[in-house]
Amino acid sequence: MSEYGLVIDGKKVPTEKWLEVKNPATGEVVGECPVATKAQLDEAVTAAARAFRSWSRVPDEERVQAVQHIAGVIEANAGELATLLTREQGKPLKGMGSEFELGGCIAWTSATAALQLPVKVLDDSPRTRVELHRKPVGVVGSITPWNWPLMIAIWHVIPAIRSGNTVVIKPSPYTPLSTLRLVELISEVLPAGVINAVAGKDELGQAMTEHPDIQKIVFTGSCATGRKVMGSAAATLKRLTLELGGNDAGIVLPDVDPAAVAESIVGGAFINNGQTCAALKRLYVHDSIYDEMCDALAAVATRIPMGDGMDEGNLQGPIQNKMQYDKICSMVEEALEMGGKALCGGAPSGGTGYFYPLTIIRDVSEGCRLVDEEQFGPALPVIRYFDIDDAIERANRCENGLGGSIWSRDLAKAAELAGRLECGTAWVNIHGDIRPDVPFGGVKQSGFGVEFAQEGLEEYTSVQIVNIARGEGL
Ligand code: NDP
Repeated sequence: MSEYGLVIDGKKVPTEKWLEVKNPATGEVVGECPVATKAQLDEAVTAAARAFRSWSRVPDEERVQAVQHIAGVIEANAGELATLLTREQGKPLKGMGSEFELGGCIAWTSATAALQLPVKVLDDSPRTRVELHRKPVGVVGSITPWNWPLMIAIWHVIPAIRSGNTVVIKPSPYTPLSTLRLVELISEVLPAGVINAVAGKDELGQAMTEHPDIQKIVFTGSCATGRKVMGSAAATLKRLTLELGGNDAGIVLPDVDPAAVAESIVGGAFINNGQTCAALKRLYVHDSIYDEMCDALAAVATRIPMGDGMDEGNLQGPIQNKMQYDKICSMVEEALEMGGKALCGGAPSGGTGYFYPLTIIRDVSEGCRLVDEEQFGPALPVIRYFDIDDAIERANRCENGLGGSIWSRDLAKAAELAGRLECGTAWVNIHGDIRPDVPFGGVKQSGFGVEFAQEGLEEYTSVQIVNIARGEGL
């Protein structure tokens, strides 16, 4: 029997089938993931629906305490979870890796516990009182990806639970084990059925999006799958939050000192080996500083140690899975065939594991996949521009709209240009700065809805108006 189980109605549930989860750095089997049947999904949804009846009505203070308790449980088990995360996801324990991710889980959980959904009084006149209430929607289905498995699980489930919903979560088949363990720990401090986890392949995600007793789906993943989620959710008119990745552009103005910003740009592009929705994925640099900027980026990228994430000296790990590794190999190959030059990296590392060195490619432009599509990996194209209006136009000529950034010493001008980027978050002199107290979400094909902060919490609620006529003589 697998040491990992589904979590249904407060119990760890075994399955008849398992799938092997492998460490992308070494190929070793990390553990066996239980594969849920459609009937087990139904059981999880039924348990969540049953738990919703009481969880949605407990005093708010009790839910605040429960979420604070969860933050404490994550903190107490952070070491075990971080190690498991590194082994199944590949990211290093140190640097911006697993320990950092667990820190994010605790920070987001604590910040969400502190949020409130007060009743708003819209009219309080002698004849009428009108109140706006925020009510939980019911059972929330969460479908999470393999890049930041635990952090994104927390982003989905904590606001859902905090606002009185119950949850069925399905982690990615590439990185299910750390989420199953996290949910097992969380479920120990919540009433049975408030949080449930199913795992497996075979269209389990689609079964969730079609399920008549799930009221909302929160999905983080690719645009293509996001469209499918929306299609299959239509029949039951589910509420949706879709966070669908991006192809974020950064634009470097001529007044910038390349050496001064290179580290921040490399950090923004290669966080989690580039496997981050809000990573910087295309860099536009003014002609006057183009050569200097390319060299400065390559100098920083070359210094970052890559290898097995369990070795504490490494700050980058492998690409998480073969599909993604093959995608990066072919995108870089095409960019080089089209005249691009690799200043560092540019070919797979070879040997065991899905290692691909950090790669900076210059002399590329639109028309190749590395620029036009989301690469989601360790290869950054650097594109030359001459005119800022043209650069903004090219940055916006993209179906995605998650983030973007402007780099300049002139903050007022940079902020004005940032406002012209068609994206959910426009940064100045930084890229990918995501915080629990600031809403985050995409426009265009990057999805809709926001996560985090008050606006993110409200996405897990619907509005109910209570309209009281203060008539006399009733
Ligand atoms: P996808 O985003 O395509 O998602 C796959 C997940 O979606 C699986 O867990 C699958 O579960 C589920 N799924 C598939 N079909 C449906 C459906 N019709 N309804 C509901 N859920 C469904 O990720 P991939 O791993 O295939 O990665 C592909 C690309 O996505 C990457 O190259 C990258 O560009 C992007 N990506 C973006 C991320 C982000 O953070 N924005 C994260 C990860 C990837 P099941 O098989 O059980 O049905």
